[in-house]
Amino acid sequence: MLTNTQSFVEKAAQLILDSNYTCAFTGAGISAESGIPPFRGEGGLWSKYNPEVLEMNFFFAHPLASWTVIKEIFYNFFTGVSPNHAHLALADWEHKGYLQSLITQNIDQLHFKAGNKEVYSFHGNSSQLICISCHQSVEATPNLLSVLPPLCNICGCVLKPDFIFFGEGIPEEAYRQSVKAAQKSQLFFIIGTSGEVSPANQIPVIAKESGAVIIEINKDKSLYTNRISDFFIQGKAGDILPEINQFILQTKAKTL
Ligand code: NAD
Ligand code: ZN
Repeated sequence: MLTNTQSFVEKAAQLILDSNYTCAFTGAGISAESGIPPFRGEGGLWSKYNPEVLEMNFFFAHPLASWTVIKEIFYNFFTGVSPNHAHLALADWEHKGYLQSLITQNIDQLHFKAGNKEVYSFHGNSSQLICISCHQSVEATPNLLSVLPPLCNICGCVLKPDFIFFGEGIPEEAYRQSVKAAQKSQLFFIIGTSGEVSPANQIPVIAKESGAVIIEINKDKSLYTNRISDFFIQGKAGDILPEINQFILQTKAKTL
């Protein structure tokens, strides 16, 4: 594993241009510059809240207590936030044919808002709520969340966000697509994720074992850094991704 930011940014640009299948795998860190705090690290949500609010047993036993925190950390933060330079760079890559798929652990919908289409939401999403009894799916509107806990209009049971809580299974289709994308990857970006959440943290390992070159962009070292990353570019995703874009433009200009 090599670390040397300047030349690796240039190297990343070259690898993107040479790759036939590139995939990005993102976590909470890519949304930090949009104003959404990650779980871990400095200013992380778990320094302020108890993670038990995202445990199914706690949710069933105390839906109001759980929802009060869930609304504050996910719905109040997420309303009105916009994609940052890192999200926009990934949308640009997909648009130009440099990025074939994007796997996100995030539930904030910012990759969709930025314009990416080929996105696999590994942990589900926050925009829909699902009834814990009849499984009806409804949009998470401010109106529905004005009285907590929100209730199903068909059976009256509690609605749960359609993202996964601790210990819940990964949505099947997203899991299948993510494994397939990791296996096909020639180039694989890890962006803004600590690698501490399982089984999501196995996806980059699958890419590595399938022969992909792994480029990691994180503010701090992660569980991947000394294990599977071929290049570790330390810094903010919102700075690094536009820099890579600059080098792509320069490299293309040289080869014209
Ligand atoms: P994490 O909180 O465990 O780790 C965040 C990582 O991002 C750290 O490694 C940190 O070094 C890095 N980071 C912080 N700011 C950065 C920046 N500006 N640029 C680049 N890197 C930066 O996040 P995780 O690994 O994604 O795991 C947490 C779980 O919680 C995931 O399932 C995640 O989806 C979920 N979560 C989602 C959101 C969201 O949707 N925005 C927010 C909080 C947590
Ligand atoms: Zn119902």
